Amino acid sequence: MMAPRKCSGCRERAVRPEVLDVYRAEIEHDGRKYTVEVPCLAVLKCQACGELVLDDDADERVIDALREAAGLLKPAEIRLHRKELKLTQEQLAGLLSIAESTLSRWETGTQIQQRSMDRMLRAFFEVPELRKFFGAPEHTWRGEAEIVYQDEFQLTRSEHMGFWSAAKQPVVHCLPERTVKVSATGQEGMAA
Ligand SMILES: [Zn+2]
Repeated sequence: MMAPRKCSGCRERAVRPEVLDVYRAEIEHDGRKYTVEVPCLAVLKCQACGELVLDDDADERVIDALREAAGLLKPAEIRLHRKELKLTQEQLAGLLSIAESTLSRWETGTQIQQRSMDRMLRAFFEVPELRKFFGAPEHTWRGEAEIVYQDEFQLTRSEHMGFWSAAKQPVVHCLPERTVKVSATGQEGMAA
């Protein structure tokens, strides 16, 4: 176990890795507030004042939960739907009149799409006529690409669903394998 770090809140040297049974937060996104819950979240916690520090891994899980709460497409879903249509990032960005860098950030998860853009994406992915209307290549609205892609997507989706349905169960305890790696400072330690 690593030595406790200094707390940026109370200045006590009492910040230690801890796995929270459930992390809860209210997060505002795109003008709305969402209550987000993440089970078994490895964080750094000040034992004196209770302040929490989230590393990149923890942040990513919280952002995923926010996407789930807001009902937005996940990065992998955007990427997979695009590939299903055999479009490059540059092509899809062009068709939607957005910057390629923006689409890239949605697909890597470093940026969350606005609700309006999420609707646009869903409509584009689901409605062949809309793709035709937007001037997308013919193969994207003839529909032959979808079956090829479906399998890959189902697999990834079921993985997602497996994770999320598990995440929605009341948390009894955190499995040891999950209580790993808090490496906010480059140091690694077992949080148990
Ligand atoms: Zn503190």
